[in-house]
Amino acid sequence: MQAVWMESRGGPEVLRYGEMPAPSVEAAQVRVAVKAVALNHLDVWVRKGVASPKLPLPHILGCDIAGVVESVGAGVEGLRLGDAVVLNPGVSCGRCERCLEGRDNLCPQYQILGEHRWGGYAELVTVPSANVVPKPAALGWAEAASIPLTFLTAWQMVVDKLQVRPGEDVLVMAAGSGVSVAAIQIAKLYGARVIATASSEAKLAKARALGADETVNYTHPDWFKEVRRLTGGKGADAVVDHTGAEYWEGVIKATAWGGRISLVGASSGYEATTPLSHIFYRQLSIFGSTMASKSRLFPILKWIGEGKLKPVVGATLPLAQAAEGHRLLEGRQVFGKVVLEV
Ligand code: ZN
Repeated sequence: MQAVWMESRGGPEVLRYGEMPAPSVEAAQVRVAVKAVALNHLDVWVRKGVASPKLPLPHILGCDIAGVVESVGAGVEGLRLGDAVVLNPGVSCGRCERCLEGRDNLCPQYQILGEHRWGGYAELVTVPSANVVPKPAALGWAEAASIPLTFLTAWQMVVDKLQVRPGEDVLVMAAGSGVSVAAIQIAKLYGARVIATASSEAKLAKARALGADETVNYTHPDWFKEVRRLTGGKGADAVVDHTGAEYWEGVIKATAWGGRISLVGASSGYEATTPLSHIFYRQLSIFGSTMASKSRLFPILKWIGEGKLKPVVGATLPLAQAAEGHRLLEGRQVFGKVVLEV
């Protein structure tokens, strides 16, 4: 099969395009002919060796995949060759206590497609049959591939961790990112008033087009004061954040008394200063979050199928130009997902 693999850790130039042996199909597995694979910052972290630094090489990246069922292993039922599918990127054992209580993203054997196992920068990818979900018919391949990781991540933050309620002020940081694009829409779906931050007027305008009620440019040093002003001095009731050390104190100061912050990454750095007085005196709650239960892809695809949530594709490239795709992603100039078409 044609594929893109990383042969060492480093910049986009470590990505190589060429011929690779196709993965075999084991019992209870499905092999999917990839039509589109969306890029995520996770791909960049793995490529650089920041995430999974001991991963054996060569390695095939790519966790967000849409395609058609090409082959099924022994014991797989309910799927036919040619079915259009979206792949759930979280792979878990399916047998342990946490899997069975629906918290499979806390399974001790939890893996992410394209990080801990070979992913979708390829013509073929193999996954457990539990990871295969029907593609909403109305969506194109690039749109379908843009859904899983970002919408799952945002769903757990907004719905499961923050438990956003109608009428609340929800602050979504860095609105141009895939997770934030999803979080803005999910928070609106749950009846919140959304305040989105971004680094440029163009990105702020796109955030408003997605449903953000108010926008704030967070490159201004006093951006958190603007969030307070927009909330009548109160601050945001709930916050979706992954901006990291540079903005962390601002995020805390932008949060209302008794407010909740859900944290899913730290783009500008992991070593942040937390003014603890704000946490206990103002009674803030901080929720760490990574991915979501596989089950959450069902309501997400339902709402997307009904047009209530929309994946946003920012750029598409052929698979062979994966390195250029990484450059676009790292340049942070694209609003929405960068997608490779296979
Ligand atoms: Zn498990």
